[in-house]
Amino acid sequence: MKAPDRYAVIGNPITHSKSPEIHAYFAAQLKQDLIYEPLLAPLNGFVASVRDFIAQGGKGMNVTVPFKLEAYALASKCTARARAAGAVNTLSFDGDAILADNTDGIGLITDIMANAGVAINGKRILLLGAGGAARGVILPLLEQQPSQLVIANRTSTKADQLVNQFDTEGAVVARDFGGLDVEGTFDIVINSTSASMAAELPPIPASMFTKETLAYDMMYGREPTVFMRFSAQHGAQVRDGLGMLIEQAAEAFFIWRGIRPNTAAVFGELRSKLVVTTS
Ligand code: NDP
Repeated sequence: MKAPDRYAVIGNPITHSKSPEIHAYFAAQLKQDLIYEPLLAPLNGFVASVRDFIAQGGKGMNVTVPFKLEAYALASKCTARARAAGAVNTLSFDGDAILADNTDGIGLITDIMANAGVAINGKRILLLGAGGAARGVILPLLEQQPSQLVIANRTSTKADQLVNQFDTEGAVVARDFGGLDVEGTFDIVINSTSASMAAELPPIPASMFTKETLAYDMMYGREPTVFMRFSAQHGAQVRDGLGMLIEQAAEAFFIWRGIRPNTAAVFGELRSKLVVTTS
């Protein structure tokens, strides 16, 4: 009998990752015979760990912090969205070839448009942050043709660099955090900073929110983040990044297996577990 195909999520640390649980749901739902494991790589041992996994017959990997840039460098072939991001979260192994993709952007877009039912086309969007997660979502956001995408980052030169890279793709400008209070309102505000991980709020003015604004935090957890609480206090609709996480996983699953999971069922399962663990 053929052994199950093997997949993994590689990172350091890795025990917190929900990807093994998500892919186990997908595999059960679609009756796919596969194993998906967490793989802790030493901080200086990413490439060796990937090669080892390939030598053992591994078919594909998700890549998480801090290896997304190294995965990009290692790839023998990249999709356009991975090249635009300069970072990779999905690897597929085919003989000697290492094929690389970035599914974070499509994960965010699907969660905002299909799951939350919020259009991006023609909307004014503020993206907070200019790190790895931000890089992965800029091109997919611009492809939806928002009226304007404003990028604000604590280190403003990084936002400027991203605008220089992407301004041929759509209406994108950089602003300092300090200048946001004269920017008026936004339809969608996306927090891609890691401030929420430290329970911090980026320095944003309350004046940017209306009751129609979607305030989206890429971070997720048992409780609403500081950013979500602040946005809700000032009237916005709020959403965390759990849906993005599940949708980026679904896209990776599709790349590997050629079949799309039903993400709604998995979303309900994971959300109820997050809620249950708080009580
Ligand atoms: P990076 O370390 O690459 O970037 C961090 C960003 O946050 C930088 O722009 C940094 O600014 C900014 N930042 C950090 N602390 C603060 C602060 N106190 N105030 C304002 N800005 C701050 O991280 P990633 O881009 O990889 O990840 C960012 C977040 O997105 C994380 O919370 C991560 O969990 C989440 N994420 C969620 C995903 C999902 O599927 N839901 C997928 C990927 C990421 P500066 O440049 O000045 O240092």
